[in-house]
Amino acid sequence: MLSQTNQPKPNAFDNALEQLRIAAEYLKLEDGIHQMLSHPKREVTVSIPTRMDSGETHVFTGYRVQYSDARGPSKGGIRYHPNVSLDEVKALACWMTWKCSIADIPFGGAKGGVICNPKAMSQHELERMTRRYTAAIADFIGPYRDIPAPDVYTNAQVMAWIVDTYSALKGYMVPEVVTGKPISIGGSLGRDKATGRGAVFTTAEAAKVKNLDLKKATFAVEGFGNAGANYAEILQDYGSKLVAASDSKGGVMSKNGIDAAKLIAFKGKTGSVVGMAGTQPIDDDGLLQLDVDILCPAALENAITPEIARGVRAKMIVECANGPTTPAADKILDSNKVFLVPDILANSGGVIVSYLEWVQNLDRISWPELEVNTKLEDKITGAFKEVYRTSQKHSTSMRTAALMVGVGRVADAIRTLGIFP
Ligand code: NAD
Repeated sequence: MLSQTNQPKPNAFDNALEQLRIAAEYLKLEDGIHQMLSHPKREVTVSIPTRMDSGETHVFTGYRVQYSDARGPSKGGIRYHPNVSLDEVKALACWMTWKCSIADIPFGGAKGGVICNPKAMSQHELERMTRRYTAAIADFIGPYRDIPAPDVYTNAQVMAWIVDTYSALKGYMVPEVVTGKPISIGGSLGRDKATGRGAVFTTAEAAKVKNLDLKKATFAVEGFGNAGANYAEILQDYGSKLVAASDSKGGVMSKNGIDAAKLIAFKGKTGSVVGMAGTQPIDDDGLLQLDVDILCPAALENAITPEIARGVRAKMIVECANGPTTPAADKILDSNKVFLVPDILANSGGVIVSYLEWVQNLDRISWPELEVNTKLEDKITGAFKEVYRTSQKHSTSMRTAALMVGVGRVADAIRTLGIFP
């Protein structure tokens, strides 16, 4: 992928390793543990022969990376996208490890992905590809081993196909093999909006420490999908005004504000935010550099490069996406005193409610949505406070503080477990 300046985007795993290096330095991590944390525990690459509707066979490539299970079974979403690569999946699995650790839930980190263009595939083709991918990784996943969930361009229906295929192979129903399932087969109430809701809880905490009045705040969302659209709708309930939003087809803005619920309905009908009544078009770079209080990158990695960072005017960035800011851009934002709630904290609401879904499944119980949302708020607010305390104590950015908390706990677990044999 190329940015507007035609500079190649940095490798996401290089970014993840650079972030780890910074945390390791602050934590004075032993070299052996730093080395262990620089390598995924397991990387699986699979070929996925799929019968297409035309009758032809197409062989897709898929990955599952289990980065660490030192703190519990590994956990992470599955992404369907043409730009999926092994390094991207490794980076996302690495970030999942720190994210579960910061949220203090008993999971390690994993991620999966298939190189495909889901927008150009029929539901039947997606189903056949998902089932074959599941069969290919079935020996590596499981409720006590590695628990997938949705990510970009996968959803509750994809999770249902995984449950059905995995269960067919086992010979009994195993809904707890994934999270983010439909409610009818054991999904948790509140899971669909959990990432956006969690990010709003962190925004509210950030607003308290930065004295920002959310009732008067303006915000922009890059990537109006599951995470971004729910973030917008819920933050709007706090009185904040959505002034711009974008998706892969383009962006829209209005100084008077855009009703998030209406924009969700519009996108549901037309497939994009583009063309929403009462808005003007805006490109992605323009959106990222808008004069707003809060900027929420909620699309893909490397959206905020140094070139973009130099023009960022937002007071606060809340990273709903994974890895939207490059390490070089981080330095610029930091020196410009932009308060950044990093991805591994801001978007942890999804995995926190995934954990709650897994617990409900294993206990064969189901909690009301309010109870799920309250548990989410407790967990993510606690995580924010711990990261903020760490940033104040060590005079570091929130990103470095989050990494210190996340990496530090995983390192502690490895030290305690020791190395086999
Ligand atoms: P999604 O597929 O529902 O939404 C992604 C959105 O981004 C879509 O609207 C798409 O059109 C848009 N997009 C893609 N490329 C874009 C571009 N270049 N510019 C602007 N918009 C673009 O996916 P999602 O689940 O909302 O995931 C979005 C991000 O949030 C990813 O980084 C994902 O890893 C992260 N995340 C999601 C969850 C979750 O529970 N859904 C949890 C944690 C992190």
